[in-house]
Amino acid sequence: MQDTLGRPLRDLRISVTDRCNMRCTYCMPKEIFGPEYAFLPQSELLSFDEIERVARIFAALGVCKLRITGGEPLVRKGLPELIQRLSQVPGIEDIALTTNGLLLPQLAQPLREAGLKRVTISLDALDDETFGRMNGLNIKVERVLKGVQAAEEAGFELVKINSVIKKSQNLHAVMDLAEHFRGTRHTLRFIEFMDVGNHNQWDMKDVIPSRDILSMIHARHPLEPVNPNYKGEVAKRYRYLDGQGEIGFISSVTDAFCGTCTRARISSDGQIYTCLFGTLGYDLKTPLRAGETDQELSGRITRLWSLRTDRYSEERAIKPRENKIEMSRIGG
Ligand code: SAM
Ligand code: SF4
Ligand code: SF4
Repeated sequence: MQDTLGRPLRDLRISVTDRCNMRCTYCMPKEIFGPEYAFLPQSELLSFDEIERVARIFAALGVCKLRITGGEPLVRKGLPELIQRLSQVPGIEDIALTTNGLLLPQLAQPLREAGLKRVTISLDALDDETFGRMNGLNIKVERVLKGVQAAEEAGFELVKINSVIKKSQNLHAVMDLAEHFRGTRHTLRFIEFMDVGNHNQWDMKDVIPSRDILSMIHARHPLEPVNPNYKGEVAKRYRYLDGQGEIGFISSVTDAFCGTCTRARISSDGQIYTCLFGTLGYDLKTPLRAGETDQELSGRITRLWSLRTDRYSEERAIKPRENKIEMSRIGG
């Protein structure tokens, strides 16, 4: 099954909640996502039965990788049970999770036992002042580092650290982060600040191109490129010449990778998005709850994917969009 640009469907990102215990300025600014904000009621969220069924249908259509995200996925009650169920789905070879790490001290072990293979933890600075400002709630760095430690202790082999860099907020954190994670088993990945959603005051002037970060780090700790692990790998990888590990760059703004984008996303209320910058979701929940068969639902997804034309990051400069889905609804 391929879309109009010849791209197969291989990955599904499942958002399990639109809620979060942080208020990162670039994702859920607290001025918008405050006490009055209408989060989805529980009844609107896909249940674990529904998520498992959707995953089975997607897997039968060629999806082999799942990423669990949010909002903050660890605030969804009973997440290890969901992971356990998804790990039994035929055809799923890999399940990963993206988290802010705050609840990993309680959950890393049960998640690992449930069959989770990989964890990505987000952390944007190593000083409390910058991190506290960026997470919107003055949450301290130490709490995330405890989550990283819990992931290590639970036996996760591949822990990745995601850092969003904004020129106006945390450019100085680049070297701190690089030096902190050099020589550990964790791969740090720098993500360009993106114009997701409608409320994060995105401005191209605040984007630091990955190549500038690469030059900064390379000047102090020489790096060389590493071949991708597989076709369509989102992060461009580099290794330290002195053997102290790898870093990666996700350059959605300055070096778009739409040509190899094989990802679909499903929001916590069961809307399918074929692009992170989509404006309209495709409602799968209504037919699912109306009792359609797997075959009928599969037909809907096939039709949707075969009509897919998305390549927003390649078109952003000429066709910026309004009314995009919020990042907290579909995850990264
Ligand atoms: N709450 C979890 C977390 O923060 O890891 C999972 C969901 S979060 C939306 C997924 C990833 O998207 C995080 O690594 C976050 O830093 C990244 N992200 C959120 N808003 C972004 C933006 N405007 N530009 C670039 N990355 C962003
Ligand atoms: Fe929450 Fe993750 Fe968004 Fe930060 S990036 S507000 S932790 S969902
Ligand atoms: Fe995929 Fe859309 Fe991102 Fe392009 S902009 S890589 S199509 S999600």
